[in-house]
Amino acid sequence: MFKPKAIYFEKEIENYTLGKELLEKYKDIPKIEIQSHNAIEEMRKKQNKEFVSMKRNLIIGVRKTHKFVENHKVSDYLVPYTSSGCTAACMYCYLVCNYNKCAYLRLFVNREQMLEKIIKTAEKSDKDLTFEIGSNSDLILENTITNNLVWTIENFKNSKKGKLTFPTKFDMVDDLLNLDHKGKVIVRMSVNPDEIIKNVEFGTSRLDGRINAINKLKEAGYEVGILIAPVIFVENWKSLYLKLIQKLSKQLSPSVKKDTFFEIIFMTYSYVHTKINEEAFPNAINLYNKELMTGRGKGKYWYKEEVRKEGEKFFREELAKYFPNNKILYIV
Ligand code: SF4
Repeated sequence: MFKPKAIYFEKEIENYTLGKELLEKYKDIPKIEIQSHNAIEEMRKKQNKEFVSMKRNLIIGVRKTHKFVENHKVSDYLVPYTSSGCTAACMYCYLVCNYNKCAYLRLFVNREQMLEKIIKTAEKSDKDLTFEIGSNSDLILENTITNNLVWTIENFKNSKKGKLTFPTKFDMVDDLLNLDHKGKVIVRMSVNPDEIIKNVEFGTSRLDGRINAINKLKEAGYEVGILIAPVIFVENWKSLYLKLIQKLSKQLSPSVKKDTFFEIIFMTYSYVHTKINEEAFPNAINLYNKELMTGRGKGKYWYKEEVRKEGEKFFREELAKYFPNNKILYIV
């Protein structure tokens, strides 16, 4: 159970049910009032080596930006939802940005307002829209602190239209299993070989736990997907990812294997990641590989085209062998 070191909070949260609940739940934790969750001067000044200890704080505020961004993958829209950032520390996390301002977990207590906008947009549309609510954080992790996912599923079930989706790297799904979700929620489990989870995805659930969780969710009637992400081209990547695919084929339940789908995403990285990781995790592996990566503008890197092509060929061939009946939605 995550026990915050300190709570940074906007005064306005006292006007919301969840805000009051969280202040009560953490009544014994030191509190610092802030003007805005977006600009915490004290955090910005912290050194990179303090990255992990900074993530032990909890920031609670009210979300002001509610702009939906069109998306054409599993969902139709990316929706800013109840949290941003995370208490785990995957070394490539794309939520990490400059000035240490967005990696720690921020909770937003105006959930009624956010869900209402989703429901209104869903019901107004001619199409049956899917909303990605987990692109800024990990909602299974967040749920252990706020119960927001349980609240969301219970309050979304009567929406006349629409579906919700989110990815996760965590296995704490038991609270979701007995909910009446009415088939409106797609959970996508993000997986990687256990060696990569252990050495790169610090603070997340291990592979066996994730596979078990997805089997349980499917058993409970949820639609489920598998995200192999991010693929990291470490030295022995072919053997690691082949073992991963074989393990999934062996341990995923027949019911998951019947109709799950795959998404495959190659890792992107940045100069900021390199700097933070060097100082925060001095003994960890270096994910920047100048032989295999190339610049992508603004201090960002991705794998060279020939590397991505080889990766794509590998995943298409191996998944065709072990999961011949399952769709690969995209490889990017
Ligand atoms: S679990 Fe997701 S949100 Fe959390 S650090 Fe890892 S990649 Fe980032």
